[in-house]
Amino acid sequence: MALTGVEIFKMLPKTNCKKCGQPTCLAFAMKLAQRQASLDQCPDVSEEAKQKLGEASAPPIRPIKLGTGDKAVKMGEETVLFRHEKKFVNPCAFAVKIEDTLTEADAAKKMEEVLASEIDRVGQKLRVDALFLSNDSGDAAKLEALAKLAAQKAPGVPVIISTKNPDAAGAALGHLSGQNAVLYGADAGNLAGMAEKAKAAKATLGIAAKNLDELSDLTEKAKGLGIEDMVIDSGARKAGEILRDNTYIRRAALKKGFKPVGYPVINFALREDEMLETLVAGLAVEKYGSIVVLGSVRKWKDLALFSLRQNVYTDPQVPMQVQQKIYKIGEPGPKSPFLITTNFSLTYFIVSGEIENCKVPCRLAVMDSEGLSVLTAWAAGKFTASKISQFITESGIEGELEQKELIIPGYVAILSGAIEDKLPGWKITVGPREANGLPAFLKSRA
Ligand code: SF4
Repeated sequence: MALTGVEIFKMLPKTNCKKCGQPTCLAFAMKLAQRQASLDQCPDVSEEAKQKLGEASAPPIRPIKLGTGDKAVKMGEETVLFRHEKKFVNPCAFAVKIEDTLTEADAAKKMEEVLASEIDRVGQKLRVDALFLSNDSGDAAKLEALAKLAAQKAPGVPVIISTKNPDAAGAALGHLSGQNAVLYGADAGNLAGMAEKAKAAKATLGIAAKNLDELSDLTEKAKGLGIEDMVIDSGARKAGEILRDNTYIRRAALKKGFKPVGYPVINFALREDEMLETLVAGLAVEKYGSIVVLGSVRKWKDLALFSLRQNVYTDPQVPMQVQQKIYKIGEPGPKSPFLITTNFSLTYFIVSGEIENCKVPCRLAVMDSEGLSVLTAWAAGKFTASKISQFITESGIEGELEQKELIIPGYVAILSGAIEDKLPGWKITVGPREANGLPAFLKSRA
């Protein structure tokens, strides 16, 4: 159970030396109790207190790393129930099920689809993250061959081995040494054997329970067997069950400090009906799933789920921004249109997307407005005639243009005269208000 601030305070040095950045030991204790501080910020805490507090001050949901290199994903470490309280930390991972009953060619094709799923959205790389290799055949040799294929085809990509057979697990994990794999399928009947294989391979153990009671019982037993890293499955498969169990688990871990469920959750969205599968996966993304297993890679499904995940895991207090600079879209020449907008990511990607689609090469000046959109930035005094003219002058763009003309967003038409005053020799043209008006506007000038 989590310790209260007063209980923690009793174990601190009580010198109020402020080295931890807090005015008093009591204030630091309160921060620790709320998990807003880390024990190592106090340099004078005794070894005995460290031992006692270490467990209590550990993240309520254990951090787990899967895969290696730039394909690695982190999960766990969440500290809030709702993103607006602070933020969600580690985006959930999407895993695609690959059965060992498939031919080698079909399995390889699915792995290639996972590798090719990466897209760039709002400056972030998004992809299907992991392979869920399932021992549907019951044949250890087939699972091993599939694991070997995954190691060859998709090095570094997180792999989840799914089997109930410890020997099959051991053989498959033998091909994934150092890959931070997951061994999923530990239940009441095979726990000791599976724990042994997971430990030997330094893999995370995936607990497959029938219900929440059994889940906490199994994680406690696994811990007793020396397993620290786990992902947990309460057995929920229907959408309502996933919502209910994931919520219980997150609440119990965060609000009650109930350690037996303080691990990342694995959810199975698998459905024959892919639309339904996508909806269930969306539910798991929104409500605390850390690994969401899907049946296939489809562009439409990926786009929907990637966007949802990105929105849920974006820090609500930090606007997403792109770098201030002049972007070339297409291959603009000296006569190509020159436009300006702000550096709010969504604004940039919508504007640049419209320009790209209409295939009129342009230069797009993106000005640092601290991530605010055009109207908000103007209202906040961050997208003003002075700042725009300074940015344009300092950019040195003048030398690249045959005609000094700047197209400003229609929403700030009011700035055109003031910008012209501050940029002598420039013509300021008012463009459309909305980005979707750009194609017609640009084509009419071509
Ligand atoms: Fe107290 Fe430690 Fe903070 Fe000093 S550094 S005020 S001893 S908690």
